[in-house]
Amino acid sequence: MKILVTGGAGFIGSAVVRHIIKNTKNSVLNVDKLTYAGNLESLKSIEQSKQYSFAKVDICDSQALKDVFFKFKPDAVMHLAAESHVDRSITGPSDFIQTNIVGTYTLLEVAREYWNSLEADKKTAFRFHHISTDEVYGDLPHPDEVKGEKELPLFTEQTAYAPSSPYSASKASSDHLVRAWLRTYGFPTIISNCSNNYGPYHFPEKLIPLVILNALEGKALPVYGKGDQIRDWLYVEDHARALYKVVSEGLVGETYNIGGHNEMQNIEVVNTICTILDELVPKKSRYSEQITFVNDRPGHDRRYAIDSSKMSKELNWTPAETFETGLRKTVQWYLDNQTWCNNVQDGSYQRERLGELNIQFQKG
Ligand code: NAD
Repeated sequence: MKILVTGGAGFIGSAVVRHIIKNTKNSVLNVDKLTYAGNLESLKSIEQSKQYSFAKVDICDSQALKDVFFKFKPDAVMHLAAESHVDRSITGPSDFIQTNIVGTYTLLEVAREYWNSLEADKKTAFRFHHISTDEVYGDLPHPDEVKGEKELPLFTEQTAYAPSSPYSASKASSDHLVRAWLRTYGFPTIISNCSNNYGPYHFPEKLIPLVILNALEGKALPVYGKGDQIRDWLYVEDHARALYKVVSEGLVGETYNIGGHNEMQNIEVVNTICTILDELVPKKSRYSEQITFVNDRPGHDRRYAIDSSKMSKELNWTPAETFETGLRKTVQWYLDNQTWCNNVQDGSYQRERLGELNIQFQKG
């Protein structure tokens, strides 16, 4: 296959590109605008491969997209390019509307024009895989709210959409566009919705890399609210493997939920990182003493959890890493790759708090 991957210089996209180049004979064209979140350094291990090529293109630029589609002639598209940080979407939603909604629309239209030009067998085999998030479903009841209930609900592929943030609303919009292009034009799409990823090459604005780097530099470890928000964590390389399964074996028109079966409160995540660092980089005080509770994120979802049984039953996928093994690998990776960390932080962002509003918002 020839696979056009959008956002291949980002955190998950680069894991997908590395996975495909290292484990298959397929070729990849990485189409990426290289925003602050996109770094070609994350692809150093495969950049010399004959199977890999790169085009610096904005997915909102229809003409530039047409050029790469008709030149590369992909058999499949894996669409990961997006603005992805919830806190940034609160401070400035505009880029999220532009890239996640207008960009996805532009990509769908160019991909559809290209698909219409294909011969029958190529047209039948073509796939457009849209990569999305579990955040489109809104939040689930938290154990605090449903005392006595034996089993807490999980997100399934049938859960109704109820996004809470500008980020998740823009991703929900893009999912709706993708489904409409399938239903209206018969365009062969597949969607996957995944839980929180963690692992190597994660830009240090997100919780896990930010805590690791702040801890090592003796800085405060900010925890939003009481830190009791629950996320279902998945190691990024397990996600990359799942995504390749979806694009190569998934059925047109289907949605696949992907998750790690690792529900953890944010405070537990931060404490576990501190314990690993106490062991790997010991110092006089404990890293957990740097934990600082800060104002909660406006509209913060309390709990996400994924039912990924469809992925395991239909595509024979299960995560290989537990949270313990994956987190230990991740901490070690950040210790071993300080140069990458320094290079990707270009000076415009100093791990400061983003997305804080001067208003009190209460549900209900
Ligand atoms: P990221 O922010 O690390 O990377 C996004 C990439 O997209 C970057 O390389 C960036 O340069 C590129 N990009 C942004 N705007 C672009 C544009 N207009 N044109 C072309 N390229 C552009 O994001 P990520 O964490 O790797 O997430 C990838 C995808 O997976 C996103 O669609 C996100 O919604 C989804 N997702 C992420 C998570 C997570 O935990 N990170 C979980 C589930 C789903």
